[in-house]
Amino acid sequence: MLAVETAESLIFQAVQTPDAAIELEFVPLLEAVDRILAAPVSSELDFPHWDNSAMDGYAVRYDDVATVQADRAVVLEVVEAIPAGVAPQKTLQPGQAARIFTGAMLPLGADTIVMQENTQRQGDRVTILIAPRQPGEFVRRRGGFYQAGQPLLMAGIRLGAAEIAVLAAVQCTQVPVYRRPKVAILSTGDELVTPEQPLQPGQIVDSNHYALATLVQQSGAEVLRLGIVPDDPTALQLAMEAAIAQADVVISSGGVSVGDYDYVDRILEELGATIQIRSIAVKPGKPLTFATLPDKLYFGLPGNPVSALVTFLRFVQPALKRRSGLATGWQPNFITAKTDCDLKSDGKRESYLWGKVTFQAGELCFSPAAGGHNSGNLINLAGCNGLARIPIGTTAIAVGSDTSVLLMQGIV
Ligand code: AMP
Ligand code: MG
Repeated sequence: MLAVETAESLIFQAVQTPDAAIELEFVPLLEAVDRILAAPVSSELDFPHWDNSAMDGYAVRYDDVATVQADRAVVLEVVEAIPAGVAPQKTLQPGQAARIFTGAMLPLGADTIVMQENTQRQGDRVTILIAPRQPGEFVRRRGGFYQAGQPLLMAGIRLGAAEIAVLAAVQCTQVPVYRRPKVAILSTGDELVTPEQPLQPGQIVDSNHYALATLVQQSGAEVLRLGIVPDDPTALQLAMEAAIAQADVVISSGGVSVGDYDYVDRILEELGATIQIRSIAVKPGKPLTFATLPDKLYFGLPGNPVSALVTFLRFVQPALKRRSGLATGWQPNFITAKTDCDLKSDGKRESYLWGKVTFQAGELCFSPAAGGHNSGNLINLAGCNGLARIPIGTTAIAVGSDTSVLLMQGIV
């Protein structure tokens, strides 16, 4: 039984990051949402593209208005109005101002904006009532936010709303992203049927397929649904071979324990895979096979529904992040929350107790699921969003203590 950290490091070393030279594709902007950028992006444009006004008001020459005081207003001639989106036509001469609006280009000659609240307009004249605090006030300078040619977005970031907006702003309409890894999902077991099939005595529904497909999809990978395979060595070998041929990563559930019908490890060996992990000191989830073939990864997860889900989140999800090209990829999604109950374990394995993380009076709080923590009980996992971690060697975490929680999904 490997320590969790040893298992993590074996998996980490085995996972290839994508090769940008061959695993890159270009997708339109809105198809790039949640994808991983595969090449750095910069822009030939400065941001802002030109000096512009941060206020509705008047563009002026600072020297004309620097002397304004309560009893000494300055009157300027208004020579044009510049709305956003229109290029100024005039160059300001001494004694002149231009009416200007937020986002509009500054006219030549102007260096400062006076906000309209500090002015009084009469016909083609404007009285400046309050002096700007310094030259350049309320001017957004060309290149003040970003200078052309600087690196802007790095390869390996996940593209969310802000990054998609930046890509749009720099007119990158075909976004270079990594190809999504193909992940095959296979369920093993003579007892399994699909949700559509009538249940005969002794049979159960293959729920792992749906849990794993959801998790793989949420990890940003492409799901290949390979269905149910009976506990028959020949059928299983064919199915595993097909899965390995089609996918970058294969995830099977079941058949990795020590039962008479647990064939996965043996078949992997026959297929020439290197088995790196057979069991990990984690609860739930002890039997877990991790094997490698050239450019392929194989995760044989335990069949127990809760074990399959926990081991996916703890070991497979970080691997998929790294395989997807996420530069920060690897970290499992741990947060810290205060437990509202005592948490107990036998201390022999790293243990996970499922429950709900909520905000309570501004703090993250963990409440274990009612009804205990049986790894065969899928039902009481519904409604949970986190797994509290009890480290190996620790037998209790007292109520009110900070606890590390592996997030299964968002907190709200
Ligand atoms: P195994 O790891 O194959 O020994 O299975 C352990 C337990 O998980 C057994 O009770 C199985 O019936 C159950 N199980 C295995 N595969 C699945 C699956 N795909 N969906 C739901 N339960 C499963
Ligand atoms: Mg089985």
